[in-house]
Amino acid sequence: MSAFDAVLLVLTSPGLAEPCPEPAEEPATKLHSGNNDDGSIFVVADPAAPHLRVQDLGATRGDGIFETLSVSNGRVQALEAHLTRFANSARMLDLPEPDLDDYRSTILAAVARHVPVAELWVKTVLTRGVEGAGGALGIPTGWVLAEAVGDLSAVRTQGIRVVTLDRGYRHDVAETSPWLLQGAKTLSYAVNRSVLREAERRGADDVIFISSDGFVLEGPTSNVIARFGDLLMTPCTDQGILAGTTQANVFSYAESIGMKTEYALMPFAELADADALWLVSSVRHAAPVNALNGRAMAVDVELSRDINEYLLGRTE
Ligand code: PLP
Repeated sequence: MSAFDAVLLVLTSPGLAEPCPEPAEEPATKLHSGNNDDGSIFVVADPAAPHLRVQDLGATRGDGIFETLSVSNGRVQALEAHLTRFANSARMLDLPEPDLDDYRSTILAAVARHVPVAELWVKTVLTRGVEGAGGALGIPTGWVLAEAVGDLSAVRTQGIRVVTLDRGYRHDVAETSPWLLQGAKTLSYAVNRSVLREAERRGADDVIFISSDGFVLEGPTSNVIARFGDLLMTPCTDQGILAGTTQANVFSYAESIGMKTEYALMPFAELADADALWLVSSVRHAAPVNALNGRAMAVDVELSRDINEYLLGRTE
């Protein structure tokens, strides 16, 4: 096995019995896909071979959820925060509750089976499963994939060019229209990919979404952090954006070195006044913004280095 070989583990029974409005107090019954008679919670699978049924709603409708976790020198980072968000996304989509114990064990098993490398990413997926006559058959599909991360040192040090794009929703859309699932990490990421192609057409690498009423939201796969003096600010994470595990950890780090932190409604115009900007996410960690809408921005070299060292050094 080489460092480039991904590890795929397909969960035999990824879901618990019913969609849970709140985390269950008692362990719920398992939903069985029928192939775990020997009690194993996953099957080791060839990542290069097909595994999904063509009627799987994750593939045909993007009807499912995922998480992407960073692994640094074998340590899975922010594991519990990712699992909690996974369960929260499932709740928002009325999916069967993912069996977090099985996912946790499968994530750790995938990392253990991978050839040791400095950095890995691990993706966990839960879909609504195969479409039946009257909707889903009710048995979700789940898997965990671990793969080596390429060299990201250039984006972490030199930074990225970013353009702002209108998301077309007001900043309060999560409260007014929860069925739009803003703030859930769903498999419906075609828009999140299309905006990257638009960024490329505009000579940029990444995007910051702006709400239709002019507030800063998030990147298509990241959160925005702005520095104003010794204050780090990020858009309120309860307003239709994903509450980032990386952003939360960056704030903990900033507080530990005496910086102030704030969740705020950030008018679009404030972005250009920031002393420094980052897009932060699992895997890429903190990417400083070196140009915003074609205008050069100063990279905070020292803080970018310190934040990335901290993120890579996390032990949980
Ligand atoms: N916002 C969106 C839309 C994302 O997809 C992601 C991660 O992929 C993030 C924010 C950052 O989240 P995290 O730091 O937990 O990776």
